[in-house]
Amino acid sequence: MLTIGCHLSSSKGYLAMGKDAVDIDANTFQFFTRNPRGTKAKALDPTDIASFLAWANDHGIKKILAHAPYILNAASADQHLRELARDIMADDLTRLEHTPGNCYNFHPGSHVGQGAEAGIAHIAHMLNQILQPKLHTTVLLETMAGKGSEIGREFEELREILDRVELKDRLGVCLDTCHVWDAGYDIKDRLDQVLGHFDAVIGLDRLKAIHLNDSQNPLGARKDRHARIGEGCIGLEAMARIINHPALKHLPFYLETPNELDGYKKEIALLRQAFDQS
Ligand code: FE
Ligand code: FE
Ligand code: ZN
Repeated sequence: MLTIGCHLSSSKGYLAMGKDAVDIDANTFQFFTRNPRGTKAKALDPTDIASFLAWANDHGIKKILAHAPYILNAASADQHLRELARDIMADDLTRLEHTPGNCYNFHPGSHVGQGAEAGIAHIAHMLNQILQPKLHTTVLLETMAGKGSEIGREFEELREILDRVELKDRLGVCLDTCHVWDAGYDIKDRLDQVLGHFDAVIGLDRLKAIHLNDSQNPLGARKDRHARIGEGCIGLEAMARIINHPALKHLPFYLETPNELDGYKKEIALLRQAFDQS
């Protein structure tokens, strides 16, 4: 069974997302915990959450993925910005206790001139402050395209963050296919080698989610422009190999392609058709 969904708007609440997911034949989805560019979060509605949990149970929706606001920068040289990232992510993790057992994905951050080492130390420090044994969410580091001074372009940088975090069992990785392609990992023609490298450096047991996106740019471009499935430089055949790969096929896949709901519905149908049920 392929677990696939897409990024959905959270503006109407959890139950609305659950209904959108069913409408497009998704059995999971991703959402922003709050305005992706702002920091304000709506108050949680316990009735909406209870209705969603029942709906998800009835419709086989599982492994939903919360995404942190992308303006946060836990690697910033500015202490105020680092504390803002820490406080918002800690608050998100508290809120996510209402939907336990899922994952929370974030962009590691940009070191903006301090150097990757300093940035990595800041990110690990924040994770050591916010990860707590009592929480029921796995926090995921997203693999990044490497535009600007983004940390997480190389698997080795994510390994360095992991090495410095105490509660390692609460930390995993989300692999974004557009980002790793733009970072220079050839998942089109050398998928086995890339996954072998990921396994050697990070460990495939740490891989908890896939952002499934094609890329508008060639291998190694470091641009981070997502394309629709089959309409970019990676291509549909490579996408089919990714969702069917024995090391990946059990994972949840989330589309972040430039689409409205009807476009996502078509992509989900296309990928379900390409999925080997055996
Ligand atoms: Fe992301
Ligand atoms: Fe992504
Ligand atoms: Zn991206």
